[in-house]
Amino acid sequence: MSDQESCRIRVLDDATVTRIAAGEVVERPASVVKELCENAIDAGASRIAVAITSQGGRITAIRVTDDGCGMNPEDARLAFARYATSKITAIDDLFACETLGFRGEALASIASVARVTLVTKARSGTGIAGRRIVNLGGDIVDDAEAGCPFGTTITVEDLFYNTPPRKKFQKSLSAEIAFISGLIERLVLSRPHISFVLSHNTRQIISVPGGDLGDAIIHLYGLPVARQLIRVTGSGTRVRLDGYISPPSLTRKNPYQVYISVNSRIIASRALAGAIKEGYATLLPADRYPLAFLNLEIIASDVDVNVHPAKREVRLSREFEVRAEITTIVRHSLASACLIASEPERIPADLPHETQELFPYRIVAPREGGVHEPSRNDRFATERQLRLTETESMIPPGSRLPDLEIIGQLGNLYIIARTGEDDLILIDQHAAHERVLYEQVRERSLRDRATQELIEPVVISLSPRECETLAAAIPLLAQEGFTLDAFGPRNYLVRTVPVLLGRNIEPGEVRELIAELIAPGSGKGVDAREHIRRIVACRGAIKAGASCSPDQCLRLIRQLARTENPSSCPHGRPTMVILKKRRLDQLFGRI
Ligand code: ADP
Ligand code: MG
Repeated sequence: MSDQESCRIRVLDDATVTRIAAGEVVERPASVVKELCENAIDAGASRIAVAITSQGGRITAIRVTDDGCGMNPEDARLAFARYATSKITAIDDLFACETLGFRGEALASIASVARVTLVTKARSGTGIAGRRIVNLGGDIVDDAEAGCPFGTTITVEDLFYNTPPRKKFQKSLSAEIAFISGLIERLVLSRPHISFVLSHNTRQIISVPGGDLGDAIIHLYGLPVARQLIRVTGSGTRVRLDGYISPPSLTRKNPYQVYISVNSRIIASRALAGAIKEGYATLLPADRYPLAFLNLEIIASDVDVNVHPAKREVRLSREFEVRAEITTIVRHSLASACLIASEPERIPADLPHETQELFPYRIVAPREGGVHEPSRNDRFATERQLRLTETESMIPPGSRLPDLEIIGQLGNLYIIARTGEDDLILIDQHAAHERVLYEQVRERSLRDRATQELIEPVVISLSPRECETLAAAIPLLAQEGFTLDAFGPRNYLVRTVPVLLGRNIEPGEVRELIAELIAPGSGKGVDAREHIRRIVACRGAIKAGASCSPDQCLRLIRQLARTENPSSCPHGRPTMVILKKRRLDQLFGRI
């Protein structure tokens, strides 16, 4: 083996190490905003302004200005060094750390992949002038006195100029701005007393004057949402909870509006979000999440903040107890808001032997016709939905399904039917109608006959992040039949919807539908128009839980029989299950 071959391992130089580490801290422009704002918060700022500049569809500059403590010239230079921090001095300090930063990595990481201009003046300093330092790719290229107010302004330009792959993988401008808006929303919620302004070029996206959490929620989500919220305060032995949650009537399809901060640090935690949801118990369906704006106060020694380079997660040493306490406090808050009927009666563990039934089913005489009589309201809703899809037959009545006779409906969800051969068929009414709607929606939008005016336009109020996402999606939504006009700050007017949703669709339904369309992470991996169609189909379809008359069941099955692909819903789940007579005979040991 030659010498050259035996020495392949080298210790990387500092600049390379910093740039590699930067990959973890500075994933995207929003990470820069996060780190700079957190530094401003740690500096005790009462006002933070974030200005994003873009040109030709790319973010060209990020500037964060604060009125915090500022830095003296020596500290300002040191701030760019890796592992240079004023916030801790030894590892033990970490466990009592009340600042958002502590690793001393952010400024060094950002400077290693960008051009950073720092202008700062310390409140504690004696000089009249401040300092202006320019750092390019990790090297200080300019350092001079400069006139400036107390506080700090950091401008980041040419982000990722020396890491081309990362530059290339940046999302679209609108996606990035939406992301940044979401981030500022979270910071506002975790520090509502600070005044925040976020602007993009000349447009102001968020402007909150600073107040209490209630004020912040009103500013971000509007009075109609804020009014419905339920106040939560309470403490257990491990955690103190403070904030607001939504009533069960106000929910979302995923937990993206469950905002949790631990000791005023916004974190992402499925486990804690799950604990909040559990507090609702059966008040919420399994696939719905509440809105929650909660701060958890936990003694610092129970929280490990040093888990994630971007500090998005924390580790709790008593997570199990904390979760249980959160669930209890949430449950009590809901109960005192008079929403929980009463706890289900406990079944005593030691039932007397005689009362235990061997056969677990209660036997009742069949109802007339075997079908539960639907309430008038229910039947009306089902009727409206069925009629919308009945007007048109896309494919001539075919025989994709055998002739069926309806036996009944189970759990207000499954239609029970039998074929001429006495095979048993169970049909999921929601999935079936979703398939019918989906094919018709697609057909109509391809033929450009998708739009219809609502009897009454519907006003929707959105959060800053949702607004940004919606603004970018409007042209696409228009192609699928939705016409939305901006209407005052963060309000939109929905004027038209796809024909198949009907002219008198409930305003609440329209709001839910739009919220679902723009929820972050929804529609991943699916073409955007396809995603819209699927949601329209799902929203417009007869619900699981709606009772249908025998005639309505039959009409639904006839509609399904005419679809191209009757056996699965647009998400690929089955619409029906067949139990062959032969299989039944086998099950009963007859053959
Ligand atoms: P960390 O926040 O983990 O300490 P950073 O790299 O983010 O590390 O910042 C390094 C240091 O620079 C901080 O500890 C702080 O002393 C100083 N600093 C950064 N931003 C500001 C600011 N906006 N105002 C005052 N000091 C700041
Ligand atoms: Mg920091």
